[in-house]
Amino acid sequence: MESPPVIVCFRRDLRLADNPALHAARESGAPVAPVFILDEEEAFAPGGAAKWWLHRSLKAFASNLEKAGASLILKRGRAAEIIPSLADAIKASAVYWNRRYAPAHVEADKALKAALTDAGYEVKSFSAALLREPWEVETKSGGPFRVYTPFWKALSAKGPTRKALPGLRKVNGLGEAVPSDELDDWNLEPRNPDWARGFAEMWRPGESGAHAALREFLEGPAASYARGRDMPALSATSRLSPHLAFGEISPVQVWQATHAQVESGGISRQAGEKFLSEIGWRDFSYNLLFYNEGMDERPLRTEFASFPWRNDPKGLDAWKKGRTGYPIVDAGMRQLWRTGWMHNRVRMIAASFLVKDLLIPWQEGARWFQDTLVDADPANNSASWQWVAGSGADAAPFFRIFNPVSQGEKFDPAGDYVREYVPELAGLPAEFIHAPWKAPEATLKKAGVTLGETYPEPVVDHAFARTRALDAFKTIKKS
Ligand code: FAD
Repeated sequence: MESPPVIVCFRRDLRLADNPALHAARESGAPVAPVFILDEEEAFAPGGAAKWWLHRSLKAFASNLEKAGASLILKRGRAAEIIPSLADAIKASAVYWNRRYAPAHVEADKALKAALTDAGYEVKSFSAALLREPWEVETKSGGPFRVYTPFWKALSAKGPTRKALPGLRKVNGLGEAVPSDELDDWNLEPRNPDWARGFAEMWRPGESGAHAALREFLEGPAASYARGRDMPALSATSRLSPHLAFGEISPVQVWQATHAQVESGGISRQAGEKFLSEIGWRDFSYNLLFYNEGMDERPLRTEFASFPWRNDPKGLDAWKKGRTGYPIVDAGMRQLWRTGWMHNRVRMIAASFLVKDLLIPWQEGARWFQDTLVDADPANNSASWQWVAGSGADAAPFFRIFNPVSQGEKFDPAGDYVREYVPELAGLPAEFIHAPWKAPEATLKKAGVTLGETYPEPVVDHAFARTRALDAFKTIKKS
């Protein structure tokens, strides 16, 4: 007689290889019931762009599972209700999952574990999403790090907790079909209008797309990553972020592949370490999130709670639409809208502009990113916004205010990035492309630019905004 099935509950871990929960279920020898629950009421539920990704990622994952021998069960609603009733319906013996780290998720999983254990099911959770569990990386005196450099030194000296597990060719599924939702009925992809039309040109969601992206990066731009990563006009970064956010690839796999590329002489040790130290920021952000409940809403530096933010709906709208009149900011915000992603350097410039030039709370920006990024990630998004705003752990000091013109000139010197995403400025020479209002009338005319008509005047003067921001900052320092 076949043993009772093991349910594997998938969340942001949509991969067959290096998936400890799935691997353990398979090793148990019992039939495996893989389930994915779409719970739109839970914390950090996917925003619009992430739903587009989720649709395609689930499609790829279900097809891979099917080929291996198991059917993905799709359900919509609260996991706390669906999992126990599914376990009962299929007479399961156990429920496995990979761990999550946002305090709201930890609480939900703890409660589910208690309920299932009380009902007599075996429950096991596994480490899968990070290089190391947050409690495994501690300062010498105990407790979590709040500064990145010593955190990364400690983590990289130890390396990942575990070795990546191999891909699974065969998964023993259930003998009979279990009622499942149809993915298409979830309407995760936008229609009327299909604002995600441009996404498919740039992305290949799913496990094989993730590995292709890693391979292309390691065999190409990785060698010059340290130099190229700040130039938004180049394709010099890995673009792994949405794949990592949905767990189509694990950071342990990335770690091992990068080391292998170093060992084989494909890239220098220095290049490999630089790249992995960025992957390390992801673990650091998850540490911060794990130990700081409400980090997505409340500043980690408590003095920032009294910061005199402005209420500026018009400014916020101009920022969201990429119509601030600062070309590098607008190019970034339009890249986000067109592709669901924005280059890291430009994320920093655009975020700094919202928070420091417009004095709009960082939470507004984080919410917009959460809805529009395909890589929207509870830890990376909150930690990075707090980093830019100066309210985070190991953050950029508030008084260091980016000048959007000189940042554009430094990191997009020929203006190619701006030309791609702000085509109405494409005819301007590089000299004026980051500050069109400085161009002589004849130059504007020749380029077909009429400020205030074809492209906006700056929504705020940067020199004025800088002084205003520093004055605002002084008030919290005093309090
Ligand atoms: P690469 O340079 O190739 O880096 C490889 C991986 O390292 C990334 O995929 C990512 O997982 C990790 N990483 C790199 N930089 C950071 C960082 N600063 N913090 C944490 N992890 C990092 N990243 C997200 O994944 N999701 C978000 O929601 C997110 N929101 C951000 C918001 C703001 C305001 C800022 C300034 C940054 C944000 N980032 C976020 C971090 C970073 O911009 C992206 O991870 C990076 O641009 C993704 O592109 P890539 O995969 O080509 O990066």
